[in-house]
Amino acid sequence: MTKATSRNTLTIEPDKSSLSGVALLRAFEQSFEGILVTDEQNLIIAANDAFSRMSGYLVEELIGKDPRILGSSRATPETYASMWQALASSDYWAGDIWNTHKDGSIYPCQLRIAVLRDTDGRAKNHVANFNTAITNHEAADRLAYLAYHDPLTNLPNRLAFESQLEQALHACERENRQLALMLIDLDNFKNINDTLGHQVGDQLLQNVALRLRECVRSSDLVARIGGDEFVVVLPEIESPLTAARVAGKIQSNLADSYQFGDHTLYATPSIGISLFPFDGNDPGTMLRNADTAMYHAKSAGRNNHQFYTARMNEAAGERLQMENELRQAISSISPSNCEFTLNFQPQIETKTGRVLGLEALLRWNNPKLGPISPARFIAIAEETGLIQPLGDWVIWETCRHIRNMKLEGITGIRVAINISAQQLRHDTLLQLVRGALACYDLLPDDIELEITESTAMQHPETTLSILDQLSSMGVMLAIDDFGTGYSSLAYLKHLPIQRLKLDRSFVTDIESDPNDAAICKATIALGHSLGLELVAEGVETEAQRDFLAKLGCDILQGYLYSKPMPFDETVAFLKAYQAAHP
Ligand code: C2E
Ligand code: CA
Ligand code: CA
Repeated sequence: MTKATSRNTLTIEPDKSSLSGVALLRAFEQSFEGILVTDEQNLIIAANDAFSRMSGYLVEELIGKDPRILGSSRATPETYASMWQALASSDYWAGDIWNTHKDGSIYPCQLRIAVLRDTDGRAKNHVANFNTAITNHEAADRLAYLAYHDPLTNLPNRLAFESQLEQALHACERENRQLALMLIDLDNFKNINDTLGHQVGDQLLQNVALRLRECVRSSDLVARIGGDEFVVVLPEIESPLTAARVAGKIQSNLADSYQFGDHTLYATPSIGISLFPFDGNDPGTMLRNADTAMYHAKSAGRNNHQFYTARMNEAAGERLQMENELRQAISSISPSNCEFTLNFQPQIETKTGRVLGLEALLRWNNPKLGPISPARFIAIAEETGLIQPLGDWVIWETCRHIRNMKLEGITGIRVAINISAQQLRHDTLLQLVRGALACYDLLPDDIELEITESTAMQHPETTLSILDQLSSMGVMLAIDDFGTGYSSLAYLKHLPIQRLKLDRSFVTDIESDPNDAAICKATIALGHSLGLELVAEGVETEAQRDFLAKLGCDILQGYLYSKPMPFDETVAFLKAYQAAHP
């Protein structure tokens, strides 16, 4: 009955002598169902009136078009993928989808597609039947639900959030009310997802969703708009204080531990808040400003909330300027002109009080921006990939200083170098370490590399292989910031490490917080049972020192002994120390 006369047009040429041909043509023309036929390029070559009515397009407007113009963003890529898969394997697909009307509105329909093949088995045509009279309300409801909800958490998705926020903003404008939008990002979700797997990550997100719902009224909107990004809209607040109270409640609720099987997890939120009418009156601006505030919350140390202020845009500008200056400073490193220096902080043997080693800590002093805290610029260097060349420079510079220290007559001091995740991803690290040691005539035992717990857990295979090679060269390895990640003991046991550095956060409150004391005690015992040495960071008081000594901590580092010092001061410190402790 159908014959493609040219690529893009199809004439329905019923065989007049055959009753069935006429009947089929009638069926096509008069069907209540919309019917579309496409050619081998999947371009439309025929459409009936019912489809024209349904879609709002004239038949002529449809001919030659890709049926994709009819689709809507509500159908997920997965739906289309499974459709094409079914058509390839069984020549047939049926399902519920959303189409877009010519006027832009969206309508649900049941779609059936059949493939017609030529004698060689090549797909010639696709015939699609559309039925908008979905009698099955459940199917329609399900479609509506899927289009507007995140299947993992059952919360409204980004699409639903945007349209509801838009409505809420209109209502606030009419009724002269204030509204708060909170953007909530989990501080260490990526870490949990990377180290414990997506299943645990998914469970965590589901629990976060439940807790968020519990923190707000039923009339407030909670939605998930991205991986670990949630939003809460409070459509009726008396004053910003209400938003601050709710944010506080969300913080303390989410910060409580999560228990999944053997894992006890913690997931604190960083929250950015924008307010209507002060910070914007459309969803886009409101969200952008909440996002800026959220980044502010992150850089203010996470687990807190920040209100958007116009000043924050200046901060974003500062961040960009800092990135540019950092790029510039790294590309122009030279012996005579360098904005970077290293400071050194002593590590003390608990039992004897002897200085065993130093930790090299990077400093950046920019002529325009002044001295910048490493917490700040190292985060930027990591985000931008600049940490790679900068970290390489730290290795060389540390080795150069060790050489100079030896020339000053100081021996037996091992210097620890911080290594970031990106440096550990390439074998070049091995060549670099080998090269720097050889260049300054040092032994592998002269240095130690510190790798944070979360870094060690990323890309286990490459990491393990590189660490094994470093270790077999004779380089000592330490796990930094221990206790802040979620390393599995089973995995740690396989790493060729010699030291664990107990994170400063546990040491700070060791005397006042029984929890921290218990963690320190357990970590030290556990480390020892694995044959590892324990280093405590951030020891500031004698009481902390005594407490750690009692627990058997092997090495201490902190302001109690010395702040990180420039090289010359370090040499003087070591000489004086070695004279006093011969
Ligand atoms: P980190 O490796 O945990 O280094 C210890 C930090 O604690 C240092 O901060 C040190 O100055 C500080 N600290 C030491 N003792 C005390 C104490 O008793 N009390 C207090 N309040 N703080 C103490 P700094 O130098 O600001 O470095 C911050 C972070 O920057 C480092 O943390 C490390 O993660 C990173 N970093 C520093 N240098 C490098 C580097 O060369 N490469 C890489 N990848 N990261 C580096
Ligand atoms: Ca360190
Ligand atoms: Ca540390």
